[in-house]
Amino acid sequence: MIFCDSHLHTDFSTDSETPVESQLMRAIELGLKHMYFTDHMDVDYPGGGFVFDIEPYFEKLLPLQRAFSGKIGIHIGVELGIRPEEEIVQKNINIARCYPFEYTIGSVHVVDGYDPYYPEYWESYGEEKGIYRYYESMYDSMKLFSDFDSLGHIDYIIRYSPSKGAVLEKADKLQKKLEELTASILELLVFDGKALELNTAGWKYGLTYPHPAPHLLKLYKQLGGEMITIGSDAHKPEHLAWDFSRVPAYLKENGFSHYVRFENHKPIFVSI
Ligand SMILES: [Zn+2]
Ligand SMILES: [Zn+2]
Repeated sequence: MIFCDSHLHTDFSTDSETPVESQLMRAIELGLKHMYFTDHMDVDYPGGGFVFDIEPYFEKLLPLQRAFSGKIGIHIGVELGIRPEEEIVQKNINIARCYPFEYTIGSVHVVDGYDPYYPEYWESYGEEKGIYRYYESMYDSMKLFSDFDSLGHIDYIIRYSPSKGAVLEKADKLQKKLEELTASILELLVFDGKALELNTAGWKYGLTYPHPAPHLLKLYKQLGGEMITIGSDAHKPEHLAWDFSRVPAYLKENGFSHYVRFENHKPIFVSI
């Protein structure tokens, strides 16, 4: 069993109504040893939202961290929406460097001003280009911004693509291009000493695999990657540590015997 959930949300995130205390109580009930609050910070999100006031966040979490120390490790993190636009890179650098977050996830939620969660993105690009453009934007963002510890849900674009990725099965040329691009992303991750997140929401949303899919996990390993963080991305207490019982076998099948969690941006390896 994995006793650490490195990715969860509360009502500090625009898309969650869950109070901090509810996540905390559920984590204790599940017997977790560590939990990482990683609320959404997507600056300049189209139409607004997905940012929170950082000071109240620390004011809320720090006393709980102290009160529960010895019982459960409460860690104060953030899920930063990474984008390549210059002013957003600058704002993200300021957030990552000016506040004492212990752990930072870098995730792509917005591509060229669109959120692929909504159909407008797919209407504008079509499915093949929509998938490719997501990874391209991820790679461009990573070249400009490296103040994060783990790359969040690398292939979650598949979950929102109209065919759930089935379009790729017939698109040989695109598949080849995607292989090259994702290899570049993973190479950069390894080179920069960053972790790749295993996000169990893939299973929750009915995919046959979590994020990342097996081929990406294997590729990261092949390229020298050793650091996998594990998160449920729970926005509700009942989703905390989702399907964590399936994680050890999935990691082992793909060549990993450890996962990592971060303390003050330094990885700690835990055997599975
Ligand atoms: Zn996310
Ligand atoms: Zn998240």
